[in-house]
Amino acid sequence: PFCFADGQIISTEKASIHPMDLGLIRGYGIFDFFRTVNFQALFLDSYLDRFFASAEKTFLPLDYSRAELKAVIQDLIEKNHLKEGGIRMVLSGGVSSNHFSPAKGKLFIFAESLIFPAQEKYDKGIKLLSLEYVRPIAEIKTTNYALPVWDSMRWKDAGAEDVLYHMNGIISESSRSNFFIVKDGVISTPDAHVLMGITRKNVIELAGNVQIRPVSMQEALNADETFITSTTKVLLPVTQIDEHEIGTGRPGPVSLDLLEKFRKLEREICY
Ligand code: PLP
Repeated sequence: PFCFADGQIISTEKASIHPMDLGLIRGYGIFDFFRTVNFQALFLDSYLDRFFASAEKTFLPLDYSRAELKAVIQDLIEKNHLKEGGIRMVLSGGVSSNHFSPAKGKLFIFAESLIFPAQEKYDKGIKLLSLEYVRPIAEIKTTNYALPVWDSMRWKDAGAEDVLYHMNGIISESSRSNFFIVKDGVISTPDAHVLMGITRKNVIELAGNVQIRPVSMQEALNADETFITSTTKVLLPVTQIDEHEIGTGRPGPVSLDLLEKFRKLEREICY
């Protein structure tokens, strides 16, 4: 595969970074990730908005304009024949003289293959393990996933597919996805300590009147349906949280309808 690094498109194996970059020694950097559908970058402007915002909020200079990034991305899609795949943009913290202050980072754009979760997971729903945690500066898409990576060993042990983070009884999100509940036909999603997911945004638009508010653990356990959303999963029904079955224990009609609507929207945009 080909990637963009050092201002040019090169073979991905040739991409390199300084070992003292803050990305490595402090876990300081930002990224974003979007899909290509039929060779088109799905919701590209939304992802670029978020990437530019992340750079600004973390004080990392991003010396490329939106038009320049779009041209590079287009080039990468063509050179990698990336019909259905993923594009990852990464901006590292840079090499800093005191090994601490944000510096001028290095921009990488990678083309990746993308495998959706197995159909069985959409058909049966997945299990989440609840853990107490709040992602630091959750609204910024930083590269720091140290705790979720560490927690993944725990949720695997528990036979779960992912985690559901909560603090003082209030839910935030999963490790790489946003969380929704459905009760008596009303859809709700947490309002705070979450990454403003692009899939979340589109699902909210497709659903219409979603309540964006604090959602408690108790409400989730008593919900008719729960689901997570993310770029790489779109919408995945959650039918178990810890040892509690959610609703009927099967993916519910609201979740399945929204997934279908999302797939339809993506076909309309890209085909
Ligand atoms: N929350 C976190 C912490 C994430 O890392 C992600 C995606 O990577 C999401 C939510 C979902 O966001 P999106 O729908 O933009 O992929």
